[in-house]
Amino acid sequence: MAVAAPGQLNLDESPAWGSRSVDCFEKLEQIGEGTYGQVFMAREIRTGEIVALKKIRMDNEREGFPITAIREIKILKKLHHDNVIKLKEIVTSPGPERDDHGKIDGNKYKGSIYMVFEYMDHDLTGLSDRPGMRFTVPQIKCYMRQLLTGLHYCHVNQVLHRDIKGSNLLIDNEGNLKLADFGLARSFSNDHNGNLTNRVITLWYRPPELLLGTTKYGPAVDMWSVGCIFAELLHGKPILPGKNEPEQLNKIFELCGAPDEVNWPGVSKIPWYNNFKPSRPMKRRVRETYKHFDRHALELLERMLTLDPSQRISAKDALDAEYFWTDPLPCDPKRFDIHEFSIYASSRSCMEG
Ligand code: ADP
Ligand code: MG
Repeated sequence: MAVAAPGQLNLDESPAWGSRSVDCFEKLEQIGEGTYGQVFMAREIRTGEIVALKKIRMDNEREGFPITAIREIKILKKLHHDNVIKLKEIVTSPGPERDDHGKIDGNKYKGSIYMVFEYMDHDLTGLSDRPGMRFTVPQIKCYMRQLLTGLHYCHVNQVLHRDIKGSNLLIDNEGNLKLADFGLARSFSNDHNGNLTNRVITLWYRPPELLLGTTKYGPAVDMWSVGCIFAELLHGKPILPGKNEPEQLNKIFELCGAPDEVNWPGVSKIPWYNNFKPSRPMKRRVRETYKHFDRHALELLERMLTLDPSQRISAKDALDAEYFWTDPLPCDPKRFDIHEFSIYASSRSCMEG
């Protein structure tokens, strides 16, 4: 399918978009609830196909259709890749909304809009939170390669995801991984010189340049999050769980060293550098903290968790890293050992907030 130019709507689209009712689907269970809406597992009545319905939350909207949903739809419509969740269509319920007793709720006398997605069995957080769950090295390589492939595709199509974290990485029982939740995503252009908001990306996965207040940034912000996910997969738990922004920066500096004009030329001009720069010298300790990781994994992690975004590895270069080309090789998702997955019900991060 043709991909639209950056910022353009894809005109090669079915005229049926948004014309069908949510009544074409039977809701089976609620599977997630996040910042912007509820997500349901549902069955298309005509075909029996299982899908995910994400309801667009309208309660806080005084100004009509939420801008975050408009962005998410517009961006997802132009992305077509095996490692990016597929938005199948938009459906509506004409309203009125009924409460649990079937009564019409006068305050909610408006219709709802749902995004219909292909259904995925798990999200990465839910999967790795299972008691006793340890991924094998070939599995970690397989997920990481798919994450980087999907992200590289987004970046060449000039889309920043801006919320890479486990609960937004969906996985099916065949071992396929897809990027989801484009609610914070944005188109960017390479010659674009400002001004984007720095209040994006979930705190634990947020890169130092955003925490220091930069409004000029690019794909490297997503690569920091990928580094955090990679280390988390190897380490078995989140590596930088800060409680607030100053603590987050401090955790980053304790692991990666303090930024200065030598390791990050230009850092002193970033808006909040002077407020946050550490008073004592702090040296980089990635290598000693994760000395038990294999050599190639550590090499790649070092390049992802690089403070200076201009020196941080890109998705494309990460895919060429030795790590993916040395034994044990990433397993083929098609030959994934799904046995250990399928004996359980699906797993997701519990109703993330
Ligand atoms: P939010 O912006 O509310 O975080 P998400 O798109 O991340 O919305 O969806 C919330 C959760 O719902 C996800 O973390 C995941 O567990 C589940 N989910 C979302 N999309 C799908 C899907 N296509 N298939 C299965 N589960 C999904
Ligand atoms: Mg989400």
